[in-house]
Amino acid sequence: MERLQKVIAQAGIASRRKAEQLIVDGKVTVNGKVIRELGVKVTPNKDEIEVEGVPIDREEPVYFLMYKPSGVISSVKDDKDRKVVTDYIEVEQRVFPVGRLDYDTSGLILLTNDGDFANQLMHPKFKVEKVYVAKIKGIPSREMLKQLQTGVVLEDGKTAPAKVKLMSMDKKKQTSIVRLTIHEGRNRQVRRMFEAIGHPVLKLKREEYSFLNLKGMNPGDVRPLKPIEVKHLR
Ligand code: URA
Repeated sequence: MERLQKVIAQAGIASRRKAEQLIVDGKVTVNGKVIRELGVKVTPNKDEIEVEGVPIDREEPVYFLMYKPSGVISSVKDDKDRKVVTDYIEVEQRVFPVGRLDYDTSGLILLTNDGDFANQLMHPKFKVEKVYVAKIKGIPSREMLKQLQTGVVLEDGKTAPAKVKLMSMDKKKQTSIVRLTIHEGRNRQVRRMFEAIGHPVLKLKREEYSFLNLKGMNPGDVRPLKPIEVKHLR
């Protein structure tokens, strides 16, 4: 048995908050009866749930961790027929990526058909920590690294404090490897942060997402999340 608002949110129709509003507004029926109270429990796939007269199509929720190779789109389809992350997963359910990694970025990305789970993880208040390893042009000074740490001003505002570690530098090639931990998830944020300090990203990989990492995995590998991992991410 699960709470009605959670089941609606999982089906990807609305956030949990909006699902609650739909219930209060009398737009949800369970087995043909309008339910207006919150907290009613239902058995998915047994109770017939309708939102504004449309039955919700609830699949068994599934959760995957993928090592996205670079050169793959974080989407379910691409109009230019490039490879997309869902090409790597063979399940009946219609899974989608939780957030995005750029086409050229490799690394850890989650996929699921659970809209509620995805919304929660992407909500800024959740502050999921993400660790990126960037190969950048040049050798950043201490001041520049400090700026990344305290926050740099981007078009869409100053970035939140970040953890920054200079891992190595190649003086001959004039490149460095920097490990950056952030919890925000703005579009192309890491690339824009490095650009802002004058050290463009040459290569980018997301190594960690919350407590999850890519140990033992190769680009293109996918594994189901363990139930305990799903529980801890919530
Ligand atoms: N930041 C970026 O710039 N690119 C990504 O793919 C992820 C974070």
